[in-house]
Amino acid sequence: MSSVFDDLVGQEHIIEILQSAAAASREGAQTQEMTHAWLFTGPPGSGRSSAAVAFAQSLICSSNGCGTCSDCNAAKTSGHPDVEIIRTEGLSIKVEEIRELLTRVAWAPSMGGWRVVVMEDADRLTESAANALLKAIEEPGTRTVWLLCAPTLHDVLPTIRSRCRHLQLRTPSIEAVTQVLINRDKISPDMAQFAAKVSQGHIGRARYLATNETARSNRKLVMQLPMQLGSLASALQAAQTLVDIATEEAKTTSGSRDEFEIEKLQEAYGKGATGRGMASGGSKAVKELEKEQKSRATRMVRDSIDGTLLDLATFYRDVMMVQSGSTEALINSDLSGEVATYSASALVSSSIKKLDAIMESRTHLAMSAAPLATCEALMCRLAQP
Ligand SMILES: [Zn+2]
Repeated sequence: MSSVFDDLVGQEHIIEILQSAAAASREGAQTQEMTHAWLFTGPPGSGRSSAAVAFAQSLICSSNGCGTCSDCNAAKTSGHPDVEIIRTEGLSIKVEEIRELLTRVAWAPSMGGWRVVVMEDADRLTESAANALLKAIEEPGTRTVWLLCAPTLHDVLPTIRSRCRHLQLRTPSIEAVTQVLINRDKISPDMAQFAAKVSQGHIGRARYLATNETARSNRKLVMQLPMQLGSLASALQAAQTLVDIATEEAKTTSGSRDEFEIEKLQEAYGKGATGRGMASGGSKAVKELEKEQKSRATRMVRDSIDGTLLDLATFYRDVMMVQSGSTEALINSDLSGEVATYSASALVSSSIKKLDAIMESRTHLAMSAAPLATCEALMCRLAQP
């Protein structure tokens, strides 16, 4: 029988816990196994929010999270009255948003069982937002289950994490990702293996590369940058290329979604009609939505640059492997020629410095540094011999 947990790659150690908690909750509400605050942590791409959503489905589905019934489908697409999925587009979740959320989920579950809130970016809670949330989590006898997600335990306030049952996801193995791409996404074995390998277990990235030709050619462009870095001018040009690619990627993913959202909103306010709705509240709501979309776009560009920097890091990592005499374990086996040429003319110590420089830039970006300036500074460092 199929299950919502089938989609979680390489996470067998937590699936068992989640399944038995969901089963226990079905038999007799709050048992020791079924706590009402959970914290899912794991590296990007390990699928922490997919795990939380799967758990939410299994809690509201009458057959333990079958993945096919109407409850399961509605829960996944935020269309279920008892399941709320909070995705943050901005850089932080503010206290007002949490207060609003708390009034929304204060009602008893409409279908019995549980009301489930999945918060995909609990690491973005401001301190006051976290404190407001804490009160709700501590409330006894509540029928609301909180599923919080964050990269690591340290990204969440100690007061919150001490109330949560913690589940740590693993980075799935390259073999596991390859198998999923072949079996679930019907991707050819060669392509699946290539995408899984260069994405280093990041399943979303692997699927994106495997199914999108532009993504693959963009990756190639980025991976050529180390060979083109000579002068200051070339470094600045490389930074621009990187930001352009990331912006384009973000646009492709968000463009149609933006239009769709605006259209939906206008419909809700009676688009076309010269009714008062559009005049009074409608245009204000559209403006607000546009503002939200803009901050989402900024975040998507940052995420996309981050992915690109991770790709670049694998190049220098491969260079170090070759420099240390190993050629078998290359991540970018399609670039073995480039890696070999580059390794021959570079020092091992400089490869380490370059890897450090990339990781530092990622940290700066995560702290909202300006993308282009950060990439320029990085490329100048990478251009040094
Ligand atoms: Zn179901």
